[in-house]
Amino acid sequence: MTIRLDARLVPIYQDVLHRNPGEIEFHQAVLEVLESLGPVLTKYPEFADKKIIQRICEPERQIIFRVPWRDDAGEIHINRAFRVEFNSALGPYKGGMRFHPSVYLGIVKFLGFEQIFKNSLTGMPIGGGKGGSDFDPKGKSDDEVERFCQSLMLEMYRHLGEHTDVPAGDIGVGGREIGYMFGQYKRITNRYESGVLTGKGTDWGGSLARKEATGYGLIFFTQEMLKAQNDSLEGKKVVISGSGNVAIYAIEKAQQLGAIVIACSDSGGFIVDENGIDLTTVKRLKEQERRRIKDYTEYHTTARYVSDSSIWSIPCEIALPCATQNELTAEDATMLVNSGCIIVAEGANMPTTAEGIQVFQQAKLRYAPGKAANAGGVATSALEMQQNASRDSWSTEYTQSRLEEIMVGIHKSCFDTAKEYGDEGNYVLGANIAGFIRVARAMSAMGLI
Ligand code: GLU
Repeated sequence: MTIRLDARLVPIYQDVLHRNPGEIEFHQAVLEVLESLGPVLTKYPEFADKKIIQRICEPERQIIFRVPWRDDAGEIHINRAFRVEFNSALGPYKGGMRFHPSVYLGIVKFLGFEQIFKNSLTGMPIGGGKGGSDFDPKGKSDDEVERFCQSLMLEMYRHLGEHTDVPAGDIGVGGREIGYMFGQYKRITNRYESGVLTGKGTDWGGSLARKEATGYGLIFFTQEMLKAQNDSLEGKKVVISGSGNVAIYAIEKAQQLGAIVIACSDSGGFIVDENGIDLTTVKRLKEQERRRIKDYTEYHTTARYVSDSSIWSIPCEIALPCATQNELTAEDATMLVNSGCIIVAEGANMPTTAEGIQVFQQAKLRYAPGKAANAGGVATSALEMQQNASRDSWSTEYTQSRLEEIMVGIHKSCFDTAKEYGDEGNYVLGANIAGFIRVARAMSAMGLI
């Protein structure tokens, strides 16, 4: 892979490599942003003088702690948990918690770093943070998940606050886990501090449309990308990886807008249903019964299940990776380009490898990075915080219209910024520069902190 780094940024990147050994996902996320920032330093030399980039690459605070808990058989387990409070120039640290066995500091830092620019792009008053644990919720009973969440919060609560750090969900953390964490926070602090967590139940301070927001927002963004090329979603063949919260609501909105979603997946494999995926079955399997996507074929005999090849081998016009980091390789990207794909927009965080991105960019396919395309989730979290602060709750229609407005705004700022910097259609450049400048200006105004 060719590294395209401005000479002024090489020592900064080398320093990141040196100080964060082995954290390969973090290195990848930093490099992707730094590759866009050369022209920004030329335009704003004061950012270089104030070492804004070096400061942004170093988290303000990193918390690592032990989470002991007991399983249903009485055996003790020890997990490790993290909260990386990356940047608070624009507002309280904001970003989800991920529970997955792959979680280690390098994953939390890549996610936290991305979150800074994503949150900035929303235009809302939220800083960047992220957390998680190597706890694996798969196969755990409800009681075990509850005990784990309570134990985790018994340490994490002291670092949180509606004006300090506001976690939410991510992979492995949904409404159930947020409920257990909120209950424990409320009990320890003796405060009903609604705005300390987002993704809450809609009966107790959660926002309508938050659950749907990342997936819906991704489709609103995709629609804008198509509009910019005088095209629309109507009749388009779409492949969406994953079958979690992001994928499910991306499928829902894509179908509402006339697209035909023909495939989705989980960590075991993928299903293809040329008639269009029946979302009711996917929701029942995944949201209610916590089963495998493979079981879809029990209910739809026209569909097939594939576990020995990549979902990106299925020809489509629009590809929306909504599963996890580095799920789409250069080989996958080449297959997509060759089969006539015109748009890739990321619902997951960093699902395309650095080599995969280069394939898309060389082919001049329109490719939108997650920090822009999936920002609808965190943006609606900020709307939840707004409702909590005013002790109000908004209708689904109003909240969704705010979400759509925000996604249209993010698309516009990415598109216009890429054009301004001489590379129209380069959403990576547009997102990185527009996201960076807002944070850099705030840091610059606040002095050396
Ligand atoms: N985990 C989501 C993300 O990657 C949402 C974070 C939030 O709502 O705070 O942006």
